[in-house]
Amino acid sequence: MAHDPTAPLGFGTLAIHGGQSPEPTTGAIMPPIFQTSTYVQPAIAEPLGGVYDYARVANPTREALERNLAALESGKHGVAFASGLAAIESVVKTLSAGDHIVTEENTYGGTTRMFTRVFERLGIEFTFVDSRDPEAVAAAMKSNTRLVHVETPTNPMMRVCDIAAIADIAHDGGAILMVDNTFASPFNQRPLEQGADVTVHSTTKYLNGHSDIIGGALVVRDDALAEEIRFVRKSTGAVPGPMDAWLCLRGAKTLHVRMRQHNAAGLAVAKYLEDHPRVDRVFYPGLASHPQHELAARQMDGFTGMVSFDVGTLDRARAIAEHTQLFALAESLGGVESLISVPALMTHASVPAERRERMGVTDGLVRLSVGIEEIDDLVADLDRALGG
Ligand SMILES: *Cc1c(COP(=O)(O)O)cnc(C)c1O
Repeated sequence: MAHDPTAPLGFGTLAIHGGQSPEPTTGAIMPPIFQTSTYVQPAIAEPLGGVYDYARVANPTREALERNLAALESGKHGVAFASGLAAIESVVKTLSAGDHIVTEENTYGGTTRMFTRVFERLGIEFTFVDSRDPEAVAAAMKSNTRLVHVETPTNPMMRVCDIAAIADIAHDGGAILMVDNTFASPFNQRPLEQGADVTVHSTTKYLNGHSDIIGGALVVRDDALAEEIRFVRKSTGAVPGPMDAWLCLRGAKTLHVRMRQHNAAGLAVAKYLEDHPRVDRVFYPGLASHPQHELAARQMDGFTGMVSFDVGTLDRARAIAEHTQLFALAESLGGVESLISVPALMTHASVPAERRERMGVTDGLVRLSVGIEEIDDLVADLDRALGG
């Protein structure tokens, strides 16, 4: 059958071709790394393409990445940043002192730190809620609420929130919804399709996928919002370098292949752990035992390689994390190689113990970023470390 050029393309095809075209002077199939700070203008204030006057403002390598990410997230505009936190920061910077943000209490630690220690000082107000309960989000809305920020699944407890329900609540209150989609990746979840206004990524994680850059991105549909965000980025300067943009684009082209394996390995590891006598609890939205499995199955296409589990005590968590051989002891996630960490001692060490417990981050919690090595080897490594 002939290819129907109007048929929507599948995710894996978009990952490779979305927003891409050969470089016009040579036909190079990958965009060159435009390693330049400025551009020669043919006449005063007449930059080529109307935009290429200075590389903080415009860079073709970065734009190739941005078009690709927009395609993967079912968006219209991608905006790339120097880090995930810089991406989130830029959305907050479209607001003004006196504005209010409703945010998930179990969000990435660096996001909470930026909100409470940088933006509260600058006059932005925050209310932290458990966004698993849409009613809690609704109850926190105020007349000056301009932004609702959630993360789903959350780090490291794998809590899930209902994107469509929260988008309605945000919009009813005159606010926009930003969803941190770092953990799911666009292969598994596309928040804009469910009513969110902004998707944010730490591209450091699954999108780049090879643990070799720090990067961030926003994807939006609304032209005016994209314009505002680009204005903030141009004015504050948190742009990624062209080499990092190029690496991220190269990574994104294999996102679907990597994510299929991360999803399969994550589920296999979660099931193995669930049956292990020395494991008290497993937190993985793909398990039927996850309290929000039904919601996760409704809004996600797969459940990633992120798995947390509780082994009861800090000593046991530490012993396991220090005795795996394939799972490397490290923070971060989403790369091809498997990582293991103890949140209470690592990513969440700066959170007061009482608040940590309330978040569910117990002393005995171990977090895995299951990579794409052979599943049997990964399970055997955990089996050795857990003491069979
Ligand atoms: C890592 C991470 C961030 C921060 O991204 P950086 O690239 O490290 O600045 C934000 N949100 C989530 C969910 C993350 O995992």
